[in-house]
Amino acid sequence: MNLKKYRVEDKLKLSAFKTNETGKGSEAEALERSAARQPKLAAWQERLYAEGKQSLLIVLQARDAGGKDGTVKHVLHGLNPQGVVVTSFKVPTAQELSHDFLWRVHAAAPAAGMIAVFNRSHYEDVLVTRVHGLIDQPEAEARYEQIRAFEALLMGRHTRILKLYLHVSKDEQKERLQARLDDPQKRWKFNPGDLKERELWDDYTRAYQDAISATSSKDAPWYVIPADHKWLRDDLIGQLLLETLDDMNPKFPEPSFDPAAVQIR
Ligand code: ATP
Ligand code: MG
Repeated sequence: MNLKKYRVEDKLKLSAFKTNETGKGSEAEALERSAARQPKLAAWQERLYAEGKQSLLIVLQARDAGGKDGTVKHVLHGLNPQGVVVTSFKVPTAQELSHDFLWRVHAAAPAAGMIAVFNRSHYEDVLVTRVHGLIDQPEAEARYEQIRAFEALLMGRHTRILKLYLHVSKDEQKERLQARLDDPQKRWKFNPGDLKERELWDDYTRAYQDAISATSSKDAPWYVIPADHKWLRDDLIGQLLLETLDDMNPKFPEPSFDPAAVQIR
């Protein structure tokens, strides 16, 4: 599949992207592709870790029940946990709020050799805050600029950044929230507050469009991933990860000694 069509090149209009795409072929084929990809991802991760020079940051943003947790579970499960750090950004604490909004985010940025996943991110600070009127448009614009500069700083330290918006329909969200209510094993995820956010669906659409348009660039692109079908979502993100790691092309370091000259007694 060519992933280019999911990349945000200029001004984003979410309605131009489908949520329920099924891609080419069947669900079974997509699941097979994802499974076959796992060892390849693991092999690249091994090199990234061994090389210890570059790092990868994956930003996951979505509405409630959009599939961020599922993406982490299904796309990254074959990787070595030692080389992956997942950070879930929640409502900021009093201490976090007493700093600038990037303070807690910078602390979670990937060290050399690591893959960092942000389950929600610094983008919350221009989304939920914007929708609830905690910041105004000029402040949002200022933050976009700060985000672009922050991401440029990370990229200057050999961090590759992938930003993914998991695109689900309002109907799909309804089904998933209902499943959280009905299924005792999912109920712990149900948060009545999510229903209030759901009522603000169109405000979030505008905020996402604005923020993504302002921060998608050739070097730190946003992708809008059709996410109503979890199997397609996982297949596409897996492919994107593989292509990215392949392009980063981390290498095992050369030994600083002559292995042939070493004798182990
Ligand atoms: P799900 O998508 O499964 O519902 P979640 O990501 O919503 O999971 P929760 O623990 O339910 O996880 O909620 C985290 C909450 O923290 C979200 O409502 C999010 O908007 C909020 N949040 C994260 N970062 C910020 C921020 N910088 N400012 C305000 N709220 C934030
Ligand atoms: Mg939630």
